Amino acid sequence: MTDGAGRLYSFVVAVLPIITGADTPVLRTPTALVPKVTKDVLHLIRNMEETCVHADGLGLAAPQVGQSLRVCIAKINDRLTPLINPRITWRSPAMDDAEEGCLSLPGVYVHVRRPQSIVVEYTDVKGRAQERRLADLDARVVQHEVDHLDGVLIVDYVGVDRSRKTEDARTSGV
Ligand SMILES: [Zn+2]
Repeated sequence: MTDGAGRLYSFVVAVLPIITGADTPVLRTPTALVPKVTKDVLHLIRNMEETCVHADGLGLAAPQVGQSLRVCIAKINDRLTPLINPRITWRSPAMDDAEEGCLSLPGVYVHVRRPQSIVVEYTDVKGRAQERRLADLDARVVQHEVDHLDGVLIVDYVGVDRSRKTEDARTSGV
């Protein structure tokens, strides 16, 4: 992995333990912004990628591995993409319903209503500002991960607007 200055880093990569539990403080605490993409941040991201692949997940947020930092990874276009300091700057009025699971809440599935499309701004691993418009599953996974960075879990959506007929869709392991 290279940083914005073109420095090449190689890390000892580890699968990290995934923190679970709807009441676990690190999962409920809004994360701190990353001031700079340091070697430590890149190492964390590399380990999160390994952990996500190992868990067969669609994404993973830093609090899920015990780090209260505004960093997550999300499968976008089938590719795990690191998002540093992500911020959703636009949400479509059109909504979608789907059932979601969470690596931090094993066995729990919740119907979650979310905007169908979003625009997300973030910093990439080279420290460059990025902006992407996402739809459908890509948008859902990123919203799920950004929720984690704000201390929000899928169980918080239980009982919220169940009036709409839900699709038979399921998003597991994020
Ligand atoms: Zn999750």
